[in-house]
Amino acid sequence: MFEYAGAIHIHSHCSDGSGSLKTIVKAARRAGAHFIVISDHNNMKIKRERRSAWSDDVLVIVGEEISPRYNHYLALGIQDEIPPNQESAQANIDAVASQGGVGFISHPFATHKAQPTCKRLDKLLGLDVTVYPWDDLDVEGFDGIEVWQYMYDWVKHVNTFNAVTHAIAPGRFITGPDHRALAMWDAVNLKRKVVGIGTLDAHAKPRVLGMFKACSYRYLFSTIRTHILLPKELTGDAEEDEAEVIASLRYGSCFIANDSLADASGFGFQIRSGGFRYQMGDECPLYNNAELFVVLPRDGEIRILCNGLLIFSREGGSLCMPISHAGNYRIEARLNGRPWIYSNMIYVV
Ligand SMILES: [Zn+2]
Ligand SMILES: [Zn+2]
Repeated sequence: MFEYAGAIHIHSHCSDGSGSLKTIVKAARRAGAHFIVISDHNNMKIKRERRSAWSDDVLVIVGEEISPRYNHYLALGIQDEIPPNQESAQANIDAVASQGGVGFISHPFATHKAQPTCKRLDKLLGLDVTVYPWDDLDVEGFDGIEVWQYMYDWVKHVNTFNAVTHAIAPGRFITGPDHRALAMWDAVNLKRKVVGIGTLDAHAKPRVLGMFKACSYRYLFSTIRTHILLPKELTGDAEEDEAEVIASLRYGSCFIANDSLADASGFGFQIRSGGFRYQMGDECPLYNNAELFVVLPRDGEIRILCNGLLIFSREGGSLCMPISHAGNYRIEARLNGRPWIYSNMIYVV
């Protein structure tokens, strides 16, 4: 399999991000991201100006973050901009599907700020941000969920008095996916396949006292990335490669990693059953000899979950375990006690 790490959910100066496409691509190349997904609020101006392209060895994919007041929805693989329907999250999901696109619920349990706060000081510090949670849990037909998002993981703990330390060392305050997002993801998958991705919501804007750019593009692009696994190498033909990347995200042949802890490239999760190997996103028939395999690029804690429940954990670099029950299997890995890797699921039936 060929593996590519992508920085997903990036705002440019075409909405409320601070950088041009050129700046963003340069940052991605320096961070070692193979592909990026730009998702400005309610517009695809960059796509209108230039089609998807390889630029400086980075594949640039342009989607849209459909952004009503609540229920932001990340859309990829759409041709025409979708104006946000303020009343109906379902209408936005359906609009993406009608264009053959793939859509992800954005920052579903967004919260901000630990107490205490001081409004005037927060404004001075640049902490007066509005949050945009997902508030309609009855929707159907979405393809995936942003299970782990860097900016909301970071900002949810920031308050007036710890802002400077958060700005100087943002990575120290990343605590992992919101447990409610993981629970929602596991629950929906009991009914149908829904893919989990890791994203950034990169704006490269927060400043503390006008001095620090707390989360620059370059910094963020080296943190939470979604690694896709493809059966063949990308070709250099941007349109063809964009289709491959999007198909992989739709299928769930991908995993989430905080690569700033350690590069997670090489992570492996398979189930072998009935003489065949099954990968993330696959449906796997259960035979007597079924075994689950995990390989980490560095020793860490390997946790195996079935239908959202932890069934086994162990320190090490690999493991092989027989399985005898159907269910949705996924892997979490921790490095030095910190959240590191979240696989997509293999569906044993
Ligand atoms: Zn948003
Ligand atoms: Zn966003």
